[in-house]
Amino acid sequence: TSVSPYPSLTIRVRPLTCTETRRGDRRVVHNLGDGAVHVSAARHDATFGFSAVFDAGASQEDVFEGSGMRQLVELAIDGFSCTVFAFGQTGSGKTYTLMGPLAQSETQPASPALLGLMQRSFACLLEQSQSRGSDLSLSASYLEIYNEQVRDLLSPGPPCTLPLRWSKTRGFYVENQLSVDFESLEAIVSLLLQGSQRRRTSAHALNRHSSRSHALLTIHIRSRAVSTHPAAGEGLGGPGTCPSKQGTLCFVDLAGSERVKETGSSGELSVEANSINRSLLALGHCISLLAKPRGKRTHIPYRDSKLTRLLARSLGGSGITLMVACISPSSRCLSETLSTLHYACRARRVTTRP
Ligand code: ADP
Ligand code: MG
Repeated sequence: TSVSPYPSLTIRVRPLTCTETRRGDRRVVHNLGDGAVHVSAARHDATFGFSAVFDAGASQEDVFEGSGMRQLVELAIDGFSCTVFAFGQTGSGKTYTLMGPLAQSETQPASPALLGLMQRSFACLLEQSQSRGSDLSLSASYLEIYNEQVRDLLSPGPPCTLPLRWSKTRGFYVENQLSVDFESLEAIVSLLLQGSQRRRTSAHALNRHSSRSHALLTIHIRSRAVSTHPAAGEGLGGPGTCPSKQGTLCFVDLAGSERVKETGSSGELSVEANSINRSLLALGHCISLLAKPRGKRTHIPYRDSKLTRLLARSLGGSGITLMVACISPSSRCLSETLSTLHYACRARRVTTRP
């Protein structure tokens, strides 16, 4: 098997929650080491292979360092379009992995050890921008896709719906999306919190925080060519030798992938369920087609959903993608876990040409 030189796919198995332990759920997912995940239950016994697997014992830092996230931040600084997306059923740990538990308790700041991939990446980005002595200009935009509508989470007032357009030069882009400049860790973390609080929560379960929309936070990194000064210039060449570059680092928290039962009791609910299923299906479909050998590929239907349009560049084009498949170890989640692992196996075969 060929190994991609770029970060690609990581599995994270969260610990059993207190509720799951209390009601006696069995653990059916086991990490065998060397990237092998074993699922064993009454009528299922399967082993899956990945490049990196993190189990209940893995800390947030382990995931940041071991998934290739740090490398992804560096590639974004170098001008690449980088995307990390977390997928898996509701409650599998997507938001925890990306942001840590802070979304649950806004009044009390989370312990630094529990901060997720996003805050760690921001810190790494700001550190790098200082240590390289280069002048990076940073800005952020934060969108959610809810019921196939794109909404700006950073604009003041109630989230407004924005049109998604396409042009030859830019590809798919969101018109009039707000992009906010920032220069410090505090500033970007506060943008993240503000935006997260404005995400659409479920129409049926408000406690299932933000699981009914896809959220995309994008950091735009522009490195300006700067003249070197005596303290920072050694070995970097003379003034003006470093051209300006533009990279992006996008974090995608996908809506839960579980099959949503259509109760038919509420119109709003079934619209919600349908659009989540439709966009995740469209994403899965694009991924399956992209996983085919290049010569056998047909047209990739990015236009089938807003999500796939927005991810088109990172999925198929010149982007570099890190996917984090989140799973629960509980016997009760078996079928969703198997479906996430199958989805992950397909996604793993996708190659891009950055
Ligand atoms: P999702 O975003 O996929 O719906 P969450 O990230 O909200 O799921 O996680 C569901 C619950 O499990 C939360 O209470 C979260 O704090 C907990 N959790 C998830 N992953 C971990 C982990 N690796 N370690 C400890 N608790 C976790
Ligand atoms: Mg979540």
